[in-house]
Amino acid sequence: MKVMKFGGTSVGKPERMYQVADLVTRDDERKIVVLSALSGTTNSLVDISNSLADSSRNLAKQKIDKLEAHYKQFINELLKTEEARQKALQLISEHFEFLNIILKISFSEALNKDILAQGELMSTKLFSAYLTEIGIDHELLPALEFMQIDAFEEPLIGNIKVKLSQLLKTHNDKKIFITQGYICRNSKGEVDNLKRGGSDYSASLIAAAITANVCEIWTDIDGMHNNDPRVVEKTVAIEQMSFDEAAELAYFGAKILHPASIWPAQQFNIPVKLLNTMEPKAIGTLITEEAGSVGVKAVAAKDGIVAIKIKSSRMLLAYGFLRKIFEVFEKYRTPIDMITTSEVAVSLTIDNKDNLEDILQELEAFGTVEIDENQTIISVVGNEIAQTPQVMMRLFDSIDNIPVRMVSYGGSRHNVSLLIPAAYKTQTLQVLNKGLFGL
Ligand code: ADP
Ligand code: ASP
Ligand code: MG
Repeated sequence: MKVMKFGGTSVGKPERMYQVADLVTRDDERKIVVLSALSGTTNSLVDISNSLADSSRNLAKQKIDKLEAHYKQFINELLKTEEARQKALQLISEHFEFLNIILKISFSEALNKDILAQGELMSTKLFSAYLTEIGIDHELLPALEFMQIDAFEEPLIGNIKVKLSQLLKTHNDKKIFITQGYICRNSKGEVDNLKRGGSDYSASLIAAAITANVCEIWTDIDGMHNNDPRVVEKTVAIEQMSFDEAAELAYFGAKILHPASIWPAQQFNIPVKLLNTMEPKAIGTLITEEAGSVGVKAVAAKDGIVAIKIKSSRMLLAYGFLRKIFEVFEKYRTPIDMITTSEVAVSLTIDNKDNLEDILQELEAFGTVEIDENQTIISVVGNEIAQTPQVMMRLFDSIDNIPVRMVSYGGSRHNVSLLIPAAYKTQTLQVLNKGLFGL
């Protein structure tokens, strides 16, 4: 079996949905098709939710009506027969009725999650309606019946596997299954989600749960590029990379993949392919255990980083100092991304600011604490990057004019990270594109 995940732009217009239908029906293999919400929908739902949280009910109502008009128009273009249109309008109206009802309810975090789930619930229903109209046999699998996270927001792979196989077994005769990306149930049984961009993660978890032979991520670009195409003009697709390289790039800002989307596939050794819905013949990127080549492959940038420096003469020749510092971050469940040390100070970075004040207060017990906000991590990724001749020299030559705050080298064989002020991000990605890739 295989998994095919299609992102927002891949289902964002009726003609794109036709293309998706072509792609899922062009072979006979049994498959689970994971869909995102239509492009722009989750952003609109976030907006609606924010308006409700601010008690701006009229504004929320206007946004709901605008979204509904968009869906009505979409259905009229997507479906050809009046009967199919009426059915689809009926399906979608349930979701808008729900949104209109919540206008009258007091806002809560659980309600926010319910609102955000509407996008994927609607896109899968619309795609299913289209497949039905053109006579393609398929089954809609509700993700809320099998996709589960625990109290720490970690997916329960074992449960997902059991529930999903039961569902698949009850539809032994079917070949095409459609399900929602992004949405899940949490430990309280409430509707929740896998964070923005989470449909990639859904796809990888599903692929792991059914031990798929491949997890295809279909998007709007021909694979993982060597640099961020939103920031840098000339970028090229990478044909092959390892799970480690892809995980590093995803975690450090390559938006094409959700930060956590590689580990499930890696754990179950399932190849991941990044493919372009708009250009299905393009080779795309194959991600497996093998890197395919050595040397620098790509750079990515992760914004919103805070650097924390703890300076203390007590650190001199002391052991246990780092442990005490790490315990503070552990207590507040805040991951550390980069770390550098000197004999009297340690600098580290975090991107989760939820508990920053408490963390800083506790760290003060160990020395003078300074923070730098608005930092960006630039991650240079490639198999055996540090062992490859000239890479380091070219890297540091390129960033001669950039005020680098931290450098992390040697933590793994495939990554060098730099911390820079966010204002230098574009310039840094550009000079690295030239210096490392000659582009
Ligand atoms: P989808 O809606 O299909 O999930 P996303 O917008 O989440 O698509 O991800 C695809 C986008 O990721 C691309 O259009 C591109 O702008 C952006 N992107 C950022 N970094 C990279 C990279 N290194 N390689 C390819 N795409 C990237
Ligand atoms: N629709 C969700 C989002 O926009 C999930 C996804 O597209 O991956 O974040
Ligand atoms: Mg995405």
